[in-house]
Amino acid sequence: MKKTRNTQKQDYVIDILTNAKHTMSVEAILKAMPIKVNKTTVYRILERFAEKGKVHFVTGEDGKAYYALCNDCNVKHEMHNHIHFQCKSCKKVTCLPYEIEVPELKDFEVQETQFLMIGICDMCIS
Ligand SMILES: [Zn+2]
Ligand SMILES: [Zn+2]
Ligand SMILES: [Zn+2]
Repeated sequence: MKKTRNTQKQDYVIDILTNAKHTMSVEAILKAMPIKVNKTTVYRILERFAEKGKVHFVTGEDGKAYYALCNDCNVKHEMHNHIHFQCKSCKKVTCLPYEIEVPELKDFEVQETQFLMIGICDMCIS
């Protein structure tokens, strides 16, 4: 089956996130794309993947959304239950393999869950 241009773009986004060591902002993904794509398209692709549970994002201190692939996410009620860390020095946002016990909220509809810790990362501290 011949791939449509849109599928190709989606594949590139997945490839970029797969190879990324840290979470990536939309701007960073856009820069890493091997073909010319506009920002709205990348946003839409990420939005769709987030709905499907393929990627998750966390909002950084700078207000930007940082995306990562869901590899080992324990996704329950839209919760990607691990911690993220943003370094104040290099600005990188990293997924950390520490799970958080998330309470079940009765009578609330949870749509997103984000956990962000802010400080200085291991690369910048030494
Ligand atoms: Zn996730
Ligand atoms: Zn750092
Ligand atoms: Zn994460």
